[in-house]
Amino acid sequence: MNMRAAVCGDHTLAMPIKPATLDDPRVDEVLVRIVATGICHTDIKIATTPGLSPRPIVLGHEGAGVVEKVGAGVRKLAPGDHVVLTFDSCGRCPTCAMGKPSYCHEVAAVCFSGKRLDGSTTIRCEDASTHGNFFGQSSFATHALANERNAIKVRKDAPLELLGPLGCGLQTGAGAVLNSLGLRAGQSIAVFGVGAVGLAAVMAARVAGASRIFAVDVVEERLALAKELGATTAINGAKTDALKEILAATKTGVDFALDTTANDKAIEQAVDCVGPLGACGLIANKNPAQAAQVKILGSMLRGRTIRGIVQGDSVPDIFIPRLVDFFMDGRFPFDKLVKFYPFDNIAEAMADADSGATIKPILRMG
Ligand SMILES: [Zn+2]
Ligand SMILES: [Zn+2]
Repeated sequence: MNMRAAVCGDHTLAMPIKPATLDDPRVDEVLVRIVATGICHTDIKIATTPGLSPRPIVLGHEGAGVVEKVGAGVRKLAPGDHVVLTFDSCGRCPTCAMGKPSYCHEVAAVCFSGKRLDGSTTIRCEDASTHGNFFGQSSFATHALANERNAIKVRKDAPLELLGPLGCGLQTGAGAVLNSLGLRAGQSIAVFGVGAVGLAAVMAARVAGASRIFAVDVVEERLALAKELGATTAINGAKTDALKEILAATKTGVDFALDTTANDKAIEQAVDCVGPLGACGLIANKNPAQAAQVKILGSMLRGRTIRGIVQGDSVPDIFIPRLVDFFMDGRFPFDKLVKFYPFDNIAEAMADADSGATIKPILRMG
């Protein structure tokens, strides 16, 4: 299978688009013609940090496209199906068996090793073996091989070119609220950082009927968008003390907080603004060694939970179609976060994602 792929060969955001070939699907794999793919901050982190994934590699993990071919053992999908590609998981470890695939024991191998579990690579470029399978997809390409497990069938009347970010960033924010924290109607939440993940959390909190939604950020335009999408209070953390403001407004604190910033101060404030028996979710980090201060007594006396969250505890076959339905019903208008770029302008799109100039860039394969 001939294709064009953006190949990351060093530790910069440069990934020149080159002709490449892609393997045929094996028994449990599907070949997908990528229509469009979102850019997520994990792509930037992997592209610029040595040691996390091998080189050369094709990144991209928010692909959306059309199934072209399926392996002999695939039962869930057929050629012509519209799919959103999401994170991969092994399907056999204890957490996969518990229906919590985002905490799969094999995550390093299935999402970051650039190879199938048997060690084979799926892409050849310039006569050299090239790493694929990034998040079980490597969607910065015109075609991708996914596993049946991480290709999620979606309704055909939804705009496919928009849907890729549901596979990672948006399900992470929305799932944190709806699945991990389990916010119910009438409860309150503070969302620290309203980029793509935080704005998805704000929209999901509104879907769930939150009484109060505090959005904290340092960029005024993002705070304005958060208010448009459902935040009841916008707080510029660079100008005011977000913790004081949330506590003054709620007396005892919010039911839930979510940090999407990986900023030490924001994490500490997110924990401290949670009231009795509430929970704070942590979904971003700077590096494996990052640590933050937790006030033990305050958390103990309030019975607070602090929990890590990956991919919003999504069971993608259930959760992604649900988010598509919310979008189609006008209740999850994530199209307001998006800017489209032609695939050939991937350098500009990566730079805009990195600088924050665009909240959610999507590459159109064309
Ligand atoms: Zn991601
Ligand atoms: Zn697993």
